[in-house]
Amino acid sequence: MGYDIERFVGYVNEGLLCSICRDVLEDPLQAPCEHAFCTACIHGWLIHHSNCPEDRQTLDVSLLRPLYRYMKNDLNRLQLHCKNREYGCEMVCSLESIDRHERECEYSQILCSNAGCTVQIERRNLDGHLAVCEYRSRECPNGCGYTILSAEDTQHNCVAELRTELELLRSEMICRVEEAKHEMESRLDSQRRHMVQKESILQNEIEELKSQMSRMMSDVRSLMAAERQHRQELEQAELEKRELMELLKGLQKDCRLNTTEGNKKSTNFRPLTRLESVKRKPREVTVI
Ligand SMILES: [Zn+2]
Ligand SMILES: [Zn+2]
Ligand SMILES: [Zn+2]
Ligand SMILES: [Zn+2]
Ligand SMILES: [Zn+2]
Repeated sequence: MGYDIERFVGYVNEGLLCSICRDVLEDPLQAPCEHAFCTACIHGWLIHHSNCPEDRQTLDVSLLRPLYRYMKNDLNRLQLHCKNREYGCEMVCSLESIDRHERECEYSQILCSNAGCTVQIERRNLDGHLAVCEYRSRECPNGCGYTILSAEDTQHNCVAELRTELELLRSEMICRVEEAKHEMESRLDSQRRHMVQKESILQNEIEELKSQMSRMMSDVRSLMAAERQHRQELEQAELEKRELMELLKGLQKDCRLNTTEGNKKSTNFRPLTRLESVKRKPREVTVI
């Protein structure tokens, strides 16, 4: 949008003026026809036109180039007044450095630096304003740790502030304790459920073991009974054996008597019948 030509000191070459706003070029661009414009001016023009505003030659944004270096140097060397001249700034400097000056110019209007304050003031008066600004703040001189806005200075009461803070902390603490309690309870509950499950599993296992045990005991008992039976049978067999041996001895004696007496024909059948009766006696067999 160009620099107001009125701000410049001395003669400004016609070639350094924008063909659109007729002020001194700001951020200049140059068309192939060598006409120069402020960037903002020519971009605005080309939205509705497709030619050079000076000579109507065809023009497009892509054809715009930076200004020739010698023209750029001429432009940068131009001397002009600060934009705050009407407020009292007497600074005159080159176009190249005017932006830097204006950023720091003591006559520039700036916003108060206190949060919430909307006062606009010249930079040179800022310190004076800050000293009385309603939004200035300071740490409480009584040591409560609060930052007090100057507007609230007279109402500040350390005890009341601290009491409010304490109440806040207390309710927060109660909340946290409640949460912790709930969590602990739910954890305990789940542990309890787990234990109950485990207990019933163990109980079942114990029952199973008990029944296995009783089965084994009855097995042992029947084995012992079988054992007893065997022993009795063995004793019986032993008795029979002894009887048989005695019979055998008796028979042998009879035989010897028969051979010595020779002619004697009488035969005693009694021992033989006894042997037969023993043989026929049924044997009890126990199968386990
Ligand atoms: Zn312009
Ligand atoms: Zn042109
Ligand atoms: Zn200034
Ligand atoms: Zn302020
Ligand atoms: Zn205080």
